[in-house]
Amino acid sequence: MRQLASIQLVTSAEPIPNADAIERLRVLGWSIVAKKGEFPGGEKVVYCEIDSLLPEWPPFEFLRPSSYKAAIIEGDHQLQRAGFRIRTVKLRGQVSQGICFPLSILPTGTPTEVGTNVTDALQIIKYEPPVPAGMGGTVKGTFPAFLPKTDETRIQVLEPLLTKYRGHKFHMTEKLDGTSFTAFLHKGEFGICSRNQWLDETDESNILSRIAKGLRLREKLEAIKGRFDFDGAIQGEVIGPGIQGNKYGLNQVELHVFNLIDISRYCLVDHETSVAATELVGLKTVPRLGDIILNHSIDELVDLSAGTSILNSKVQREGIVFRPAVEVYEPLIGGRLSFKVINPHFLLKYGE
Ligand code: ATP
Ligand code: MN
Repeated sequence: MRQLASIQLVTSAEPIPNADAIERLRVLGWSIVAKKGEFPGGEKVVYCEIDSLLPEWPPFEFLRPSSYKAAIIEGDHQLQRAGFRIRTVKLRGQVSQGICFPLSILPTGTPTEVGTNVTDALQIIKYEPPVPAGMGGTVKGTFPAFLPKTDETRIQVLEPLLTKYRGHKFHMTEKLDGTSFTAFLHKGEFGICSRNQWLDETDESNILSRIAKGLRLREKLEAIKGRFDFDGAIQGEVIGPGIQGNKYGLNQVELHVFNLIDISRYCLVDHETSVAATELVGLKTVPRLGDIILNHSIDELVDLSAGTSILNSKVQREGIVFRPAVEVYEPLIGGRLSFKVINPHFLLKYGE
């Protein structure tokens, strides 16, 4: 679960060329543009990440003209309340992500140690865009407990890893912006899932069951079992018409695999084997961008993430996902070592 609002230190406040009234603050691995002198640096603040939806409270009212989002209502059911959405912005050529407030906005009695999660204390929730139509289909249940969900953590909250893994090799893949998909073969049972739900694979009103059928995923997972001798699951991103605005301008829906899971070990298969197995059964992987020896600052990684998609050179890519050659547990993540670096130009273009 992302910690959207927390107590953090402003580690520096630096001038911005040709701008007298504003300056650039550093909080964790994020850069924030703020009014000059508002936070001189070194003090504790409440830091709210992008994607925060702040409540309509008086200290946040100044955000109304730029950031108000109405509630999302479906029938007589409110899916998301109204509020002020924090997104990536550019001011005087500087990318700014997130917002800082003085500790005085906190309800009295809220602890203020650095790192304290104050998301709930401030009634902040994650802004989720309205769910695209046509992704419905019959739900079989919640996401199966024998499988890990797909997720990637942003490098900006993992800065210490850049020192810890300096000199280590990482594989880079393009992060595609579609919808997460899982297909598994578990003790003879075939199933498919969206990001959070186990779906009925026979209900073809759903794009994901059509993909599973069209790509003969059951046979492919059987082939993987025959060749590698484990019950497997593949996880990938489905992109194309009807999904996230079809950013890559495709003519048909495609699956690009990023994970192969050995279900009985509840872990990902190492990168090389995973790519080999995926290609062996004739599936596409997410675009591979090669290897890198980690020796970068956050700013350098963010610069690296900028660029266009391998799938369509006219569109900004969403970002890059970094993984080690061999799967390893990382306590700071609380899971496997892997992180994403999102391209700020993508966020600016799509208003995120
Ligand atoms: P956040 O955690 O930042 O609030 P989020 O949880 O909605 O956002 P995403 O930004 O969608 O997550 O990033 C994680 C998702 O990225 C994964 O669930 C997966 O579906 C998708 N993804 C796309 N391309 C890749 C890739 N190359 N490698 C790994 N995951 C990828
Ligand atoms: Mn996430």
